[in-house]
Amino acid sequence: MTDASRIGVLALQGDVREHARALTAAGAQPVEVRRPAELAGVDGLILPGGESTTIGRLLRIFGLLEPLRAAVADGLPVYGSCAGMILLAADILDGRPDQPLIGGLDVVVRRNAFGRQVDSFEADLHVVGVDGPPVHAVFIRAPWVEKVGDGVSVLASVGEHPVAVRQGNLLATSFHPELTGDTRMHELFVSMVNGRQEAGG
Ligand code: GLN
Repeated sequence: MTDASRIGVLALQGDVREHARALTAAGAQPVEVRRPAELAGVDGLILPGGESTTIGRLLRIFGLLEPLRAAVADGLPVYGSCAGMILLAADILDGRPDQPLIGGLDVVVRRNAFGRQVDSFEADLHVVGVDGPPVHAVFIRAPWVEKVGDGVSVLASVGEHPVAVRQGNLLATSFHPELTGDTRMHELFVSMVNGRQEAGG
């Protein structure tokens, strides 16, 4: 048996412990990431939800913004949930003008998109690549994907709005997969990380 993949959880804000628990259940070894040196040692990274403006500010303060951009460009598998999806987006709508993004995912994401009607809701979604019953998805002041570029696969939608997308080693969901005890989204990400390692990436 090979060693479990070391998967980082960006630990500046958000449900760090819940993501770590889900990663362990999915067969990976979770590692909290707050500093560039910690980022350098991981095989993949989860960007938890929270407030993207705050996380972006903290990324700058902790000196992680440029290392993260470089890691994404280098092919590090990254899973962004909710605010994490916003941070991975190439461009956003309804963002703050000074809000930094990591980028790399060829999508335009609208912040707080559902929030104009309702702050939070839950929905059962079929997610491409996730076997079994629908995923019970929890949305909290959630973004949606307004526009996808070539090479981006839509894995799930609410109405006509994509809420789960993948492009190469990048995975993003508008919803929080760490809150339900269903670890299948984490398993999907762990399999992306393991696939990259097996391919020698
Ligand atoms: N609305 C938040 C933002 O713009 C995201 C909400 C969340 O991560 N649950 O960053």
